[in-house]
Amino acid sequence: KDSKLDQIIKTIEENDIKFLKLELRDIHGLPKSMAVPLKKADDVEDIVNDGLLFDGSSIAGLASINDSDLLAKPDINTFSTIPWRPESKGTSRFICDIYTTDGKPYDGDPRGVLKKSLKLAEKKGYEFNMGPEPEFFIIKKDENGNYMPADEADYFDVEPLDQGTDIRREIVFGLEELGFDVEVSHHEVAEGQHEVDFKYADALKTADAVITFKEAVKAVVHNLGFKATFMPKPFIGINGSGMHCNQSLFKDGKNIFYDPDTENQISQEALYFIGGLLKHAPALSSILSPTVNSYKRLVPGYEAPCYIAYGFKNRSTLLRIPASRGLGTRIECRSADPSCNPYLAFAVLLEAGLDGMNNKIDPGEPTEENLFAYTEEEIVEKGISSLPTSLWEAYHALEEDDVVKNALGEKVFNQFYNIKRAEWDAYRIQVFDFERDEYLNV
Ligand code: ADP
Ligand code: GLU
Ligand code: MG
Ligand code: MG
Repeated sequence: KDSKLDQIIKTIEENDIKFLKLELRDIHGLPKSMAVPLKKADDVEDIVNDGLLFDGSSIAGLASINDSDLLAKPDINTFSTIPWRPESKGTSRFICDIYTTDGKPYDGDPRGVLKKSLKLAEKKGYEFNMGPEPEFFIIKKDENGNYMPADEADYFDVEPLDQGTDIRREIVFGLEELGFDVEVSHHEVAEGQHEVDFKYADALKTADAVITFKEAVKAVVHNLGFKATFMPKPFIGINGSGMHCNQSLFKDGKNIFYDPDTENQISQEALYFIGGLLKHAPALSSILSPTVNSYKRLVPGYEAPCYIAYGFKNRSTLLRIPASRGLGTRIECRSADPSCNPYLAFAVLLEAGLDGMNNKIDPGEPTEENLFAYTEEEIVEKGISSLPTSLWEAYHALEEDDVVKNALGEKVFNQFYNIKRAEWDAYRIQVFDFERDEYLNV
């Protein structure tokens, strides 16, 4: 008898783990958790079997006040011990699925939304793989208490200019303890900006990993006396932080986006998938670039996309097909940023792509010019449309797009839409320094 649960109980016993955290995700993809003190190691068995009731109404976008009792049930595959908590009397965690009190999967659970989309792919024998590239800033406060980048280094710079070398080292060790396969880490283009990439996996595992990644980065950087932020555009005039989403579909262990017999070695399925992503791009924006601040990143000149187009070597288009072929053949979506909820993001990307395949949506010709070199009029002449330029535009595009709405499901769509509308309404009544500088003397 050595089941997964037995192994977990053994780990808890051997490492004298005293707390078990049950993690949930709110509609923004932020982790929420409750900690159960473990009196003895096999307490974990009851928790795994029975789950734990909680009040869903105080978690953003989850449940309404008059229907608030929900059940958190640990997903046994997500067990890990948290390396940034004390080693003695440590803390382990499970990521949970959310159920109603009568035992049905709860339709307001973002993790459940992704699971439902993945089932659609599974029915056709597809495994949806995702490799994210979350970028972030390490910041500190200046003498006036304003946040600023923690160093002045540039792309791929080394220490001592790069003040992040030792911090990234600790981040990588923490992630490896959590079971991540880290591929590469480096200083990014903007001052104080960094990237740590980990290996792609199926989209559910990757969505779980994105949340854990952000938690780990924030905790490690905090413990070293700085702050990490995944805000998409924290500073004007320098690059913002993206979370490129590299996507592929495997069938029977083979990458179906790869076809050695075509000119670009890209399959017809991949082209249709791209067709779907391009068609649904405006609505996808609301989920991939979900904050008011996201749209300050999506402006020309900062390696972030503004136009709905695809290309091969092109980093100015929304979609890029990186050079790698064979198993590594993938479609990179460059608009997503790390403020998105990865469960919802991966679900809508998949369903938009599948819509392209089901309806044989032609993506047109690739764009290989630098789109940032053109004026808006020239872009229009070329027949290329722009991504939404504000959260307002994006959530209205979502409202119009049945495929993307359907991927979210009615409950999550309604909650998301109402929350984003409120966010926009709160934003649009603000008056900023910029306006006083421009208009005080009109
Ligand atoms: P970039 O050139 O944009 O920096 P990278 O070469 O760093 O991109 O690739 C980043 C991500 O692509 C990594 O997370 C990697 O694991 C992922 N990746 C590689 N192959 C695949 C694949 N077949 N499907 C999805 N993601 C993949
Ligand atoms: N930071 C850029 C962005 O906002 C991306 C840079 C890169 O290509 O890695 O998307
Ligand atoms: Mg990058
Ligand atoms: Mg990339």
